[in-house]
Amino acid sequence: MTQSTAPREPRWTPSAEQQALWPSISGNTINGMGETEVRRPTPIYWHAPESTPHGPLQLWFYTQVTPRVQLAREERMRANAEPVDVVADVRVDRSAEEWTARVKAAALAAGADAVGITAVQPQWVFEGHSVSKRWAIILCVAHDWNALQTAPDDEAAAEVILQYARGVRTAKKLANVIRADGHDAVPHGGPMAYPMLLLPAAIAAGLGELGKHGSLIHPVLGSNLRLAMVLTDIPLIPDAPIDFGADDFCRLCKSCADACPPEAIQHEKKMVRGVERWYVDFDKCLPFFNEHQGCAICLASCPWNRHQPPPEHRGFASATSEQQSCARDTAPRFGRQESLLPVPARERD
Ligand code: SF4
Ligand code: SF4
Repeated sequence: MTQSTAPREPRWTPSAEQQALWPSISGNTINGMGETEVRRPTPIYWHAPESTPHGPLQLWFYTQVTPRVQLAREERMRANAEPVDVVADVRVDRSAEEWTARVKAAALAAGADAVGITAVQPQWVFEGHSVSKRWAIILCVAHDWNALQTAPDDEAAAEVILQYARGVRTAKKLANVIRADGHDAVPHGGPMAYPMLLLPAAIAAGLGELGKHGSLIHPVLGSNLRLAMVLTDIPLIPDAPIDFGADDFCRLCKSCADACPPEAIQHEKKMVRGVERWYVDFDKCLPFFNEHQGCAICLASCPWNRHQPPPEHRGFASATSEQQSCARDTAPRFGRQESLLPVPARERD
């Protein structure tokens, strides 16, 4: 029997409207795919639309809105508009140990589900932007898992936006705690990306590993989360990166790649700006993401999300060795063959 050599039909193709807006340069080129030298990231999306080649697509994304998503966007705008407190005149000095314990407790009290600390690295800062602060306090806020599992429906899209709003508010509350003690602290939340990448900072801050789907995998929250950040110069003790087996597990698992309609998730790591890592094809992902007000199918399909802790049991200063060991123990359970088969997001447990 001879096998057909005809190219396979793509699972999904973007609308003509989006194709007409696509710039001549590939997003993968802008992202530095194939580059062997470490360099700062180039702004590509979630920056001022007029400043990037894909800006017209970002503007088109804004026009894709259902009433539920519109309500969530308004909530995020309210969160963004809330002011932060002025820095108090009286400065309180503490040791790095005392500050670290204080900001982690304050982050959890402010609503973060996990928090970690890392020193800002220049290679995370976008070209054209700068970060003068030494430390990034990275915050995780978890989605409502039931809502996220509906991806790519607008219930999931709205939930993602609402968690961006929660992340912004949590970062502002934490910044206010530091500012009340006379030290500057700058909050930042998504989806706008500047001034720096949050994902490598979250990995460096001990909050998880990079998954094949291009998002963080936290040992307990899985990928069911958004990130926010506070930049500051107070004395702090950084957390260390963790390895609980997620990267190894991704080498075998195919769930997110099989579930991704435009087949944007690649099974082999790529060299990107001097680092070999999992990489999602920007040119394939973005059009589907845009046509669904966001997407998150890959997050909803990731088996690390199956055992979401109830909200009252969340709140991790950073992944403890106990949590890492628990994650390692549970990972093989996800490795059963049936769990590697693609499962529609809304049919998951
Ligand atoms: S966000 Fe959607 S389109 Fe993009 S990689 Fe994930 S599943 Fe694929
Ligand atoms: S779905 Fe599987 S391959 Fe994809 S990120 Fe999660 S564990 Fe890794």
